[in-house]
Amino acid sequence: MEANLPAAIGFLAEVRQDGARPLEPVFAAHGSLARWHERTADRCLHTALVHSGAPDEAYARDRGRTLVFAGELYNQGELIGLLPGRVLPGSDAALVAALFDVYGIHAFRLLNGRFAALLADPGRAVLATDHAGSVPLYVSVAPGRVLAATEAKALRAAPRGRPVPEGRPVRRLPGTHQVPAGSVLDIEVSTGTCIPHRTWAPPLARRILPEDEAVDTVRHTLERAVRTRIDPGTPLVVLSGGIDSSAVAALAADRSAGPIDTVSMGTDEADEFRQARVVARHVGSVHREITVPTADLLRGLPHAVWAAECLDPDVIEYLLPLIALYLRLGGEEGDGYTGRRILTGYGADIPLGGMHRENRLPQLDTAVCHDMATFDGLNEMTPTLSTVAGHWSTHPYWDRDVLDVLVSLEAGLKRRHGRDKWVLRAALDDALPHEVVVRPKLGVHEGSGTTSSFSRLLADADVPRSRVHQAKRLVVEEIFDQVVVYGRHPDEVAVHAAVELVAGRLTHQARPALR
Ligand code: AMP
Ligand code: MG
Repeated sequence: MEANLPAAIGFLAEVRQDGARPLEPVFAAHGSLARWHERTADRCLHTALVHSGAPDEAYARDRGRTLVFAGELYNQGELIGLLPGRVLPGSDAALVAALFDVYGIHAFRLLNGRFAALLADPGRAVLATDHAGSVPLYVSVAPGRVLAATEAKALRAAPRGRPVPEGRPVRRLPGTHQVPAGSVLDIEVSTGTCIPHRTWAPPLARRILPEDEAVDTVRHTLERAVRTRIDPGTPLVVLSGGIDSSAVAALAADRSAGPIDTVSMGTDEADEFRQARVVARHVGSVHREITVPTADLLRGLPHAVWAAECLDPDVIEYLLPLIALYLRLGGEEGDGYTGRRILTGYGADIPLGGMHRENRLPQLDTAVCHDMATFDGLNEMTPTLSTVAGHWSTHPYWDRDVLDVLVSLEAGLKRRHGRDKWVLRAALDDALPHEVVVRPKLGVHEGSGTTSSFSRLLADADVPRSRVHQAKRLVVEEIFDQVVVYGRHPDEVAVHAAVELVAGRLTHQARPALR
């Protein structure tokens, strides 16, 4: 991996007063592994970091406390301004540790980033997620120990933990919980008592702005989010040619010294290559097209579940084409292989109601409210989807400031003049060809034909049409059990075996009802 990736992309950290041996670190994220063991008067801290060459920067010690940090911040400038007169922190971890010294747990309310963190303070462990929980964080707590990891599978061998307030139980891992998005858990290690704090919530009120002001606000907030995600290396934008990723590509190209890289994927069934080419030509990118056979896409199911640790079949369907793309981006390691920093257009539809395809505003805000209330725990935004292939992905539309702006705009700015995502389209009007600005939404699962091929797989196994969605859910659960709960490598898991198992169960159940 390259230095332009975050210092750490994952961790397993154990705060222990019980003297037990640390767990074996197991991650889907692909990188180098660094391990530390630190002993203080009242506890041990065992850490295993998945890193990209500079593990020391993911670790900060300040006044008897230690912070372990995976991911990155996007508002360092603002944050450093809060620490006048101090030696400037040399890493995001050091910056968060310095802020914690001033603000305590409220430091986490200040951060705009993509991260998960554990802070070991005398007698306590503090766990924190970013506003969107975009780097998943899991915990197992019992008196005398707090075990936390960025992947649930790293805790599969943990002894049973106690309930965690606000924590989301993980399927078939008793006592392992996912830390909610935008949260801090403050845990007393000796008793395992846990106090949760919310550090972010989606805006519930809606802002009324004149068209011009709304358009300008969206443009400059998104520009800033793209800018802070680009660094001296050349960014790579995964480009469908839709408005969301095309906007990111245009703004990234505008900010980069040289041409950016763009890549589009398609399958033998469907692609959006023509549309993406229009954008690539316009922004002057070095563009690649990658075609993945549909059969390979579906063979990637165990990898997608392994990486995202997600049980929602619809989300897995969106993620399948993307993981297939990420896995095909690089050459072999040791052969000039370097991890890339990837920008996506992922997630714009959620705050903008882009999947909502009719003209009525109450329904649009109902969709936005529902999606913002239910995204947590789906792991749609997880960086592990790309770190399995050694790449770091980041999503400007889920930047904290962009999200706050987009969610809070009144629905009439999102659907206006007969257009969906109007405010975004208007904000990019001068940066993209007109045909791109007005191009209707096509989801990645549609553009690549994934939905139909997953459904066909089940139909071919004789699952009745009315039960296909339920069958998809069961297939994903079965695969989750294999790769997360039992810890098998996804290459060892055959999709057809899971499909046959589920189809057998469903047709068996269906028979009495048919008679
Ligand atoms: P969508 O569901 O179309 O909003 O896709 C979410 C994001 O995934 C897009 O904004 C792109 O960054 C990326 N993406 C979608 N489709 C493709 C594709 N065919 N090739 C490359 N990237 C894509
Ligand atoms: Mg699309």
